[in-house]
Amino acid sequence: MPLKIVIAGAAGRMGAALLRAASADARFAIVGAVERDGSIPLGQDACGVAVTADLAAALTNADAFIDFTAPAATVAALPALARANVRTVIIGTTGFDAAQDAAIAAAAREHAIVKSGNFSLGVTLLSALVEDAARRLDPSWDIEIVELHHRRKVDAPSGTALLLGEAAARGRNVSLSAVRAPARDAATPGARKRGEIGFASLRGGGHVGRHEVMFAAEREILTLSHEALDRSVFADGALAAALWAADKPPGLYSVRDVLGL
Ligand code: NAD
Repeated sequence: MPLKIVIAGAAGRMGAALLRAASADARFAIVGAVERDGSIPLGQDACGVAVTADLAAALTNADAFIDFTAPAATVAALPALARANVRTVIIGTTGFDAAQDAAIAAAAREHAIVKSGNFSLGVTLLSALVEDAARRLDPSWDIEIVELHHRRKVDAPSGTALLLGEAAARGRNVSLSAVRAPARDAATPGARKRGEIGFASLRGGGHVGRHEVMFAAEREILTLSHEALDRSVFADGALAAALWAADKPPGLYSVRDVLGL
């Protein structure tokens, strides 16, 4: 039996990649495609289903909900997911604040939720490597995370950069919030503090996403990096996560759980 999935953000860049990947894979049946009210293509056909803003109607009969939208939209969908008793929820949306993260964690008491700022295999392995390097290199090695994305991206640093920052902080046994360097601009002069993890975000053109984690010592620099060449890597990862989570108990999972890393 194919997994019956609903895709939210169906008219977006990731929505299009998910529709393309799922419709070409017999393990999935697309039973719903959701867009926000006022979005141009409502009613348009998306791989055999009409794009709708009626989330409750789209969720009738769904096994899994896959969300690549915007933080407020993801959180607003949670009560409908609970009412419809959807078993599996995949959240790829990035840019949540602490209250929104807490709402998702609470919803994980009812659904198996896989949430990640990056569903690619390469970045998932990169996060494990970054954690290991941070564990082995003492805080005299300055950690800086540099990311590049297309000009339309709205959140910064990217969800992936934060995920990598969290991995580095975990490797050093500290919380990222305790060591995250404040944004550097003319208003925040001063030298770098030992143990800080810094972020820099570049925006331009059409790049799908590049991330570099730099460990800089006085006389040598180690750089670990990843470059996504196509959005299909995130779509494939999200769909693999949906299959993996289909028989898991409620809880909040990461792609590292999916891959056993
Ligand atoms: P996008 O702007 O192209 O698409 C988002 C879509 O969501 C839009 O079509 C928008 O109309 C729709 N939307 C907004 N509110 C909605 C609502 N209430 N209900 C239904 N649809 C709604 O953006 P994108 O590039 O596809 O990225 C979407 C999100 O996924 C962003 O947060 C991005 O950072 C994230 N992302 C995550 C990964 C990952 O691997 N985790 C990869 C790429 C992008």
